[in-house]
Formats: sequence, C-alpha cells, structure tokens
Amino acid sequence: MTINSTLLAKAIHCSFMNENIFLEFDHVSIDSRSLQNGSHTLFFCLKGHNHDAHQYIESLIQKGVANFVVEYIPDVVKNKAHFYIVENTTVALQELAQHYKSEFKSLQTIAITGSNGKTIVKEWLNFLLSPDYAIVRSPKSYNSQVGVPLSVFGINEKHNLGIFEAGISQHHEMALLEKIIQPSIGVFTHLGDAHNEGFTSIEEKVKEKTKLFNRCKIVILEKNDFVEKHISAPTFTWSFDNPSANVFVVSKVKNNQQTNLKLQVSNHKIEINLPFTDDISIENAMTCIATLVYLKVDFYVIQKRIAELYAVEIRLQAKKGINNCLLIDDSFSSDYQSLKIALDFLDQQKVHSKKSIILSDIFQSGLDVDQLYHNVTKALESNKINRIITIGETISKHLEHLPNVISFSTTQAFLQQFNTQSFQNETILVKGARSFHFDEIVVLLEEKKHETILEINLDAITYNLNFYKSKLKPETKVMVMVKAFGYGNGGYELAKHLEFLKTSYLGVAFADEGVELRKAGITMPIMIMNPETSSFNTMIAYQLEPEIYSLNALKSFIKISKEKNVSAYPIHLKLDTGMHRQGFEAHDIPELITILRQSNFVKVTSIFSHLAASDELNFKDFTLLQINRYQQMAEEIKSKLGIQPIEHLLNTSGIFNFSEYQFNMVRLGIGLYGVGNSKEENQLLQQVSTLKSIILQIREVTPKESIGYGRKFMVNEPIRVATVPIGYADGIRRAWGNEKGYVTIHNQKARILGNICMDMLMVDVTHIPCQEQDEVIIFGHSPTVIEMAQTLQTIPYEILTSISQRVKRIFYKNG
Ligand SMILES: *Cc1c(COP(=O)(O)O)cnc(C)c1O
Repeated sequence: MTINSTLLAKAIHCSFMNENIFLEFDHVSIDSRSLQNGSHTLFFCLKGHNHDAHQYIESLIQKGVANFVVEYIPDVVKNKAHFYIVENTTVALQELAQHYKSEFKSLQTIAITGSNGKTIVKEWLNFLLSPDYAIVRSPKSYNSQVGVPLSVFGINEKHNLGIFEAGISQHHEMALLEKIIQPSIGVFTHLGDAHNEGFTSIEEKVKEKTKLFNRCKIVILEKNDFVEKHISAPTFTWSFDNPSANVFVVSKVKNNQQTNLKLQVSNHKIEINLPFTDDISIENAMTCIATLVYLKVDFYVIQKRIAELYAVEIRLQAKKGINNCLLIDDSFSSDYQSLKIALDFLDQQKVHSKKSIILSDIFQSGLDVDQLYHNVTKALESNKINRIITIGETISKHLEHLPNVISFSTTQAFLQQFNTQSFQNETILVKGARSFHFDEIVVLLEEKKHETILEINLDAITYNLNFYKSKLKPETKVMVMVKAFGYGNGGYELAKHLEFLKTSYLGVAFADEGVELRKAGITMPIMIMNPETSSFNTMIAYQLEPEIYSLNALKSFIKISKEKNVSAYPIHLKLDTGMHRQGFEAHDIPELITILRQSNFVKVTSIFSHLAASDELNFKDFTLLQINRYQQMAEEIKSKLGIQPIEHLLNTSGIFNFSEYQFNMVRLGIGLYGVGNSKEENQLLQQVSTLKSIILQIREVTPKESIGYGRKFMVNEPIRVATVPIGYADGIRRAWGNEKGYVTIHNQKARILGNICMDMLMVDVTHIPCQEQDEVIIFGHSPTVIEMAQTLQTIPYEILTSISQRVKRIFYKNG
C-alpha cells in the first residue's frame, strides 16, 4: 500500500498539515509494540476508555517514527515529529480507510458478518477461491471498528478480490464499517441469540447487522424469511429444510470422519463430502458452498476443494517447546500480512533473547516475488531474527544471501535432518502455508504432548482490566494481584501482558514468586505480601518491595537495608482495620512513627489495608467502619511523617461496590480473571480461562456392569462411556463426580459417572456423537467456574488456584 500526504489531507480533517512537504507512507500502525517502518509509518494515536496511545509517542520517535495522527501533542514531544491533529483519531483512521478503499473501485469485495463463524467462513472462502483470484482478506479476526480499517490498508493494485469480515458490539457501528468496506457481495453466516451481543431484541440486531449489505448486489445466507425481510438486496440462499432455496440440502449423512451432503441446485444434483461432522462446521461449509455456487465455480471443483477443507486455527499460540524453548505456532497460514503480525507477536515474547523462525514460501502477497522477499528480508532484519530456516524453493532462493539462513526445499527434507538438540532456550516462530504441513514440525518441537490444557484469553484479561478501570478515575493506579501463579492462570505471560497494559504494580504472595518474574524479565514494581525475614536479602537483590505488617518485620528489614547500604528502599505499610490477618493496629502507630522518623534506609511508598467483606452489602456498615479506621490511622502516619504516599484499600468487589474509596490505587484480583462477586458483575466480564482435555477412549457398557472405583455408578441400560485424562490430581474435586458435575463435548453436557480418579474421569456420551481425541471442556463457558464453585460449596478462587501445575497453560490473543 501507499498513502501519500495528499490523500491523507483529503481524507482526514486535520488542523495542521504542511502543504510544502510531500510524504509517502507504506505502513499504517496503531500498535506501539508492532514493528514500525521509520519515516514510512503513519502512526494513529488511538484513545480508548482507559488507554491512550499518545503516551507511546516518545518511544516511537526513538524508533524512527516521524508522523503521527493525534488528538493533542504531549509537551515532551513538541516539535519532534510531524503531528496531524484531529478531533478523534479513531474516526480519522476510519475516514482514511474509506478513502483508501475508494481508490480501488474495481475490486470485487465480499463482506461477511453474523454472530459466529465470520473468521472461519472468511478463511475457508480464501482457501476455496485462492486458485482463481488474487485475494486480500482481513488478517486473523480483524473485524472491529479499528480492525476493518487496518484490513483495508492491505489492498494493493494486484488484488482482484477482497474478503473482509465485519463485527459490531454497538448500534450504528455497522453503517460505518459498510462505508469502509463498500462490499458488492454480502455473506451472512449465522444469527445467534440477541443477549450475548448487547442487543435487546433479535429484530434490533438483524436490522443493525444487515446494514452491511446496503449497497450489495447480492446477499448469501441460510434461508430465513425473517432476516431476508430486512435485506433490501436480492438474496442467494441455502437451506436444510426449504426446497425453494437456491442450494437445497436434500440429505445430510454423518459417518465417522465426514458428512455426505446431497444438494439440489436448480435442476442439478451434486454430492459433496465434507471432512467434518459437527453442525457448526456443516453450517459454515454450506455458506461457503452457496458462495461458490453463486460465483459460478464449477461443481466438480467445488466438490474437490470442499473435500480438502481443514480446521482453522485463528489464533497465535505460544506453547512450551522442547529444551526450554517457547514455540509460536502459526503453522496454517503464510501470507505477508499475517507474517508481520506473527513477527510482532514473536517480538513481544521476551522470555529468550534468541529468536528463530521457520518459514515457508509465501503466497498471495499481491506483490511480485522480488518485491515480496525484499520486504520479508527487511522485516526479518529489523526484528533481529537470529536464525532463519526457510522451507520451499522460492523463499530459499530469495533469502539465501542472508548470513543466518539455513534452507530446505521441502518439509520432508527438514524433518529428515531434524535434531532436537539444535533447538535450545530460544523462541521459535513456526509459520508456513498449509500445503507445507508445518504441523508435523510443531509436533516435534512441542514439549511432551499433554492432552489437558488451560487456555487463557489475554484479550479477555485486557477487557476485564478496562472494565474495572472504567469504574475508576483515570489517574488511579492499579496494582494487579498475580499471587498464586496469577490465580492459577500462569505467572510470567500474564505479568508480561499487564506490564504492556501499563498497570502500575504487581502483587504476589511470596518473594520466590517475585524472583521468578524478575528472572523472566519483568521490570515493573512488584509488592510482596508475605515477605519472610529469611528472604529480605533476596528481595533487595531483585528489587522486590515488601509489605511491612509488624514492628518486628520493620526492624529486621531496616537492619538488612543498613547492612546492604541501601537508602529510601520502598516499603508498603499494611494496616489491620478489621480483617485481623496481618497489619499494624492503632496502638502500634506511635512506635512505627518513631522508628520511621529515625531511618533513611526505607521509604513508605504506600499505606494500605484490606477489606474483609467488600462483596457482602449486608456488611456495608462494617466495611464503612473499616474505611473509617483506615483513614484515621493513615492520616496520623501521613501527618506525623509529613509524607504523601500512595494509598489503597479496594480489591475487586471493593472497586465494584465502594469505588468512592479508591484513594490513588486499587488492588485488582479475581475480577481480572473474569470472575466477579455478584451476578451483575459477572455479566459485565469476559471469561478468561478454559480448562480443556480430550476423549481418550470410548466404550459401550451393558446393564449390570458398573463404572469406576467402588462401583458407584451402576449401569441400567446400555450406555456409551468416554474416559477423559484429567482427575483430582489435576485439581478437579472428587465431589464433582457421581453425576454432580458434568463436562461439555460438542456443546452438549456429559455427566460424570462414578468417582473421579486421580488422573481420569468417565462421562456419559450415549447421546453425543463424538469420537476419541475429540475436545472436552472441563470448565469455561459451560460449566463456568462460578457454577462449579456453587455446586461444590466453595468459591471460584479455590477452583482456579487448585488447577495443578502439571496442566499446561496456553495463552492466546486474537490480534
Ligand atoms: C488477594 C488480595 C487482593 C485481591 O482480591 P480480589 O478479591 O481477588 O480482588 C487484594 N488485596 C490483598 C491484600 C489480597 O491479598
């Protein structure tokens, strides 16, 4: 892409633009973490509720970025770059995208929306149509008010088909996306239920979503009179039950691995074998088939290509690799746009300084080959990749001049010489086109395969953090409690993410936890809640800040500070105002003040206390009493010492219920992980963790037999039983067994039969079509951690922190 300053001036209404300077940009960025292209980057400083990219300008200037679209110019960077001042940077980004798209009048454009399946349908259409078109498409799930503009900037002159997805969360957003995408073909994937998307009625939702199709000449969807009523364009439909649809499914027969579909298309019959059996994939495939039929792709070709459809892995995953490596698995796509995203993701993983990449030939760039690999070379160089392994004739030829390249003509050739010892303590990005079968490389590089994983959605973490921040004043600091391995969700990766989100402090329970984080490269301030005297030396060595909760602890810490010859070492004073767990009481304060007055070795960075019942509004009076006690004690310390430290009192439910007492910092814990303390609060949060396993074995069991230890489940009629490799040693309580609890397989509940074993449990799948190796959800959407805690008469905190360390954690984000 190229955007010049003339187009920019035309598109966005900015208050300053030096007409004498003509500039050209080949890169639009909104993310300070991503690789910039110096003076060729146009950076948009977006402002969200709780996020303001203007604060990154200074560091971006250091990276060579010289052009910014801003809402204001921060003092420190005045006159240091070109600034284009607009009223709203997000709107400016959208306007620029709209103008940019308009330059490609002849580009045939498909826009996809719907409640589910947008990304899958987009990826599948791309796969199915790529032999016939030069396609540009939204990377990953870039379908938002910001994602769509960024997708559109991927277009260049060589493309002849655009496939973009559009997703909305509020009213009036779709009209805007429509203006940017300007589609001529609409695809509507699926109409979910209204509630989970912030609409009050289905009607309202349909009206909003179909605005995407305002200028389409055709809209492709499952036949649905109610939806079609709202679409002004002609439609092209498919259906399982209505023979008047353009593509009618006469029969659908599932066997083990695939679904046989017999279709009627006007007076032709076609038979298609789809390599999936679940209903969602069948629906998405039908949407794709209808689109291909509409585009007049030959029936024989449709048959052949549908048979090759594959499961789409939308997200970038960081996985534990062999020999302490970190593996980033992006083994299903290889286009230039997604390469850039993957390189950014690689750059953000700072666990190892050494970085390797295994990369296949790149397709569909819309650039000529020389230009493409020139860009790739530049990207690899500026990302400082230590070792580049190229697989494929074309890429190998174009990159062989680089000093750190090892090349192979095929994946087989690479696998034949593969030696586990050649990968150690490094981060490895595996990125290849599907036809290269890089999944075989991933299998070798992945640490021993453990079927049970806890998946953590970092986007949901961001969302939840912002939700609590929206309850606070913008200047209030946030300490995030990552004690107990981030409430079971993993320490380092979370901390890294929170550091990027510019939270102010991390709080952990023990010094060891803090040391781990420091060793992994976390540099932000860390408070230790239970510092043991024996760990004081270590804490100073790693710049960990102790919570001081008694006169004895204070005296020993000062003594060690003196020996170490440190001065003004940050400490945090904990006051006991009613929790009666740790902290200074009112009668300790005079002596506390005397000691602190005499010592320069430590400095009171913050004063705080902890509420015992911030979640129980029945105890509101008691909470207010605690707050009152806190204010009196803190006031005495502050005035007698003449200091203005940070003050903090509220945990998650405190923020929700008592935000007027936020002082200048809060301590957020459980809410970040998607669990609030009330129903209303829970509905406003996004679910963060999903505990998954697989079906190890399936068997039929006949009456009079029993299941598991102690014969607790007696079989009365023939049943089908699946064994899942997770048990109480992984943190699943035995009390969840014996049909009290359930797991979810293909969106259906399967009750747990008999006692839960140490490493396994058995479930009833009589009514669920499934096979060995299929995915099993232990908790996530259903059951939720909250539901489990209720049944087990405990609290979600206990469920989350009980998940054993042997369960592998996988972190992901969408963009
Ligand atoms: C754990 C903890 C928190 C966080 O509590 P949540 O209820 O999880 O938000 C805050 N402060 C202290 C002192 C804690 O120990």
